[in-house]
Amino acid sequence: MAFTQGKLIVFSAPSGSGKTTLVRHLLGKPELALSFSVSATSREKRKGETDGKDYYFISSEDFKQKIEQAAFVEHEEVYSGMFYGTLKSELERLWAAGKNIIFDIDVEGGLNIKAQYPDRTLAVFVQPPSVEELEKRLRNRQSETEDKIQMRIDKATRELTYANRFDVVIENNELETAKAQAYRLVQEFLNR
Ligand code: 5GP
Repeated sequence: MAFTQGKLIVFSAPSGSGKTTLVRHLLGKPELALSFSVSATSREKRKGETDGKDYYFISSEDFKQKIEQAAFVEHEEVYSGMFYGTLKSELERLWAAGKNIIFDIDVEGGLNIKAQYPDRTLAVFVQPPSVEELEKRLRNRQSETEDKIQMRIDKATRELTYANRFDVVIENNELETAKAQAYRLVQEFLNR
């Protein structure tokens, strides 16, 4: 039997809403004892990313094989042809180490984790100020081509309607305020 004492903290939001920055901020607080759930993905590695740290970068074939082996807690084709998923082995590894786990995953994936572990999960939705601001942030990143940016904007517009299904919504209008709010929420949840 897997050891399942740890709590789960899910940060979900449209791409560009700043959730990754918030997750990194929380990971930098040793007193929270959080570990990052490294997802598997079939998308290409971006500059500056490390295999096994940002993601487990695997081929589409490997990804499909793992789906068949029921190796995922949740998985999704987040964008056309690009698969992302949380491996059961990743949660077991972190739970065995006595960690609380923090996730940076998309909205569907976040709700999926919450549905599977309702009592031990805090599901946080990070709300960007507006779709226009989101678009600006995605363009500033300069890591993707125009059609990929458009794909992310379309998905973000749909995802914004999901906010009310989460335990809590953080409005990321001003980063320092959002960081402080995220810290308080997580600390309170872990002490519960
Ligand atoms: P990116 O390509 O920008 O790293 O991620 C694209 C989207 O996929 C982001 O919203 C990210 O949070 C999400 N994502 C990352 N890992 C997972 C996962 O394991 N499952 C799901 N459902 N989404 C994920």
